[in-house]
Amino acid sequence: AAEEGFDVEDVEGAIEEAGHGPLPVLAVVGRPNVGKSTLVNRIIGRREAVVEDKPGVTRDRVTYEAEWSGRRFKVVDTGGWEQDVLGIDASVAAQAEYAIEAADAVVFVVDSTVGVTDTDEAVVKLLRRAGKPVVLCANKVDGQSGEADATALWSLGIGEPHPVSSLHGRGTGDMLDAVLEALPEAPKETFGATGIGGPRRIALIGRPNVGKSSLLNKVANEDRVVVNELAGTTRDPVDELIELGGVTWKFVDTAGIRKRVHLQQGADYYASLRTAAAVEKAEVAVILIDAADTISIQDQRIVTMAVEAGRAIVVAYNKWDTLDEERRYYLEREIETELGQIAWAPRVNVSARTGRHMEKLVPAIETALAGWETRVPTGRLNAFLGELVSSHPHPIRGGKQPRILFGTQAGTKPPRFVLFASGFIEHGYRRYVERRLREEFGFEGTPIHISVRVRE
Ligand code: GDP
Ligand code: GDP
Repeated sequence: AAEEGFDVEDVEGAIEEAGHGPLPVLAVVGRPNVGKSTLVNRIIGRREAVVEDKPGVTRDRVTYEAEWSGRRFKVVDTGGWEQDVLGIDASVAAQAEYAIEAADAVVFVVDSTVGVTDTDEAVVKLLRRAGKPVVLCANKVDGQSGEADATALWSLGIGEPHPVSSLHGRGTGDMLDAVLEALPEAPKETFGATGIGGPRRIALIGRPNVGKSSLLNKVANEDRVVVNELAGTTRDPVDELIELGGVTWKFVDTAGIRKRVHLQQGADYYASLRTAAAVEKAEVAVILIDAADTISIQDQRIVTMAVEAGRAIVVAYNKWDTLDEERRYYLEREIETELGQIAWAPRVNVSARTGRHMEKLVPAIETALAGWETRVPTGRLNAFLGELVSSHPHPIRGGKQPRILFGTQAGTKPPRFVLFASGFIEHGYRRYVERRLREEFGFEGTPIHISVRVRE
């Protein structure tokens, strides 16, 4: 490395940074209007999780990446959901439940100017049951005079209240220090551990009515085993063990797949939260698409969620039994134009109704997981890069020609590469490198990350 003008320490640092495993997940929960979205904006340091004044506005994005004191983690914002017909307690509890289930630690936000409400107490019960580390955020402490209100929140019995003003930033640093202490270095269910022993985790996702519950029923026959049905608690979410192709798989959040009858307002947002939670917990996402219906923005959002989460991906086009010649023709065109970002994902054309091609699902999942776990030896990678650079050099810019000097695979699940270059590598060339990597090494069914370090 040194002879190429890179410091050994720089190289090692870059590899470590790029090779991080899955990030730990922090959920921000609490009743409406306590300031969850405002706090999430603070934590991620941008205005992306827009605080919406209009009730009933749906947001599809619920997971964000954040960094504090050099540590990275994900934040799940549950602030976008209005109460539904079951009333405020039930709706807050339901949304918090999904978020808590998927999280490694929780920030529980209370409006200290209001004090403890029954709904807050209900969330505390959930938190106790879940047993995840909790950081209590006493929000809306905008000045010294509010400190006493924060102290009163000791009465919740879940530890120290951290006085915070999400609006102005007061106290958020100290609270984030506590968050880092609560968060594990890596997510609890590490992929490595389950990869060896436990069943692989599948998230079956897709927009409403694509046939998720039908498919689950079809593949499961009568063999369903409910894994974590906690006695006397709420039913959601539930993981189920299902044997397919002689192997036991864990389908995560399957209760969420079944209809929740009380869903009225905020159904789309709720569905997004559910999808995000399931994807966080899974290794592979099986994305179901209704082949009979036009591929929609909602389908694309779900795809993006799974890609951004870095999961192995299989696409199943369902309701194949209903397609005529014409629809088949247009479907192929739509797939090309709308789902180009996952052209690498194994595809199965199924019917949950007739059982068509159900037997192809498991091989597709195995292919995707194999791609997700692929590791390219450094020697092979550099032989490949050397050839690529000489046969197809980067375009000359400002009289200089940036070159990829060497590279390494810093991690798997999904594959992550770091390339070291003599100058800025343009987006188009990066895409070319990715395409060639896929041609050479497969990576079927997996997103791949490529980061580039430029020599100073
Ligand atoms: P959510 O429903 O829990 O996501 O709450 P929002 O983040 O939408 O905030 C609800 C309202 O409380 C908004 O009008 C915010 O501006 C306000 N708010 C949030 N945090 C603070 C704070 O620290 N101090 C004050 N004074 N207002 C806040
Ligand atoms: P979910 O909301 O994604 O769980 O979708 P459901 O499993 O509830 O299915 C929605 C509707 O599509 C139901 O009426 C199903 O009977 C129907 N459906 C599901 N899969 C198929 C299929 O493969 N073919 C046909 N013709 N209908 C299907």
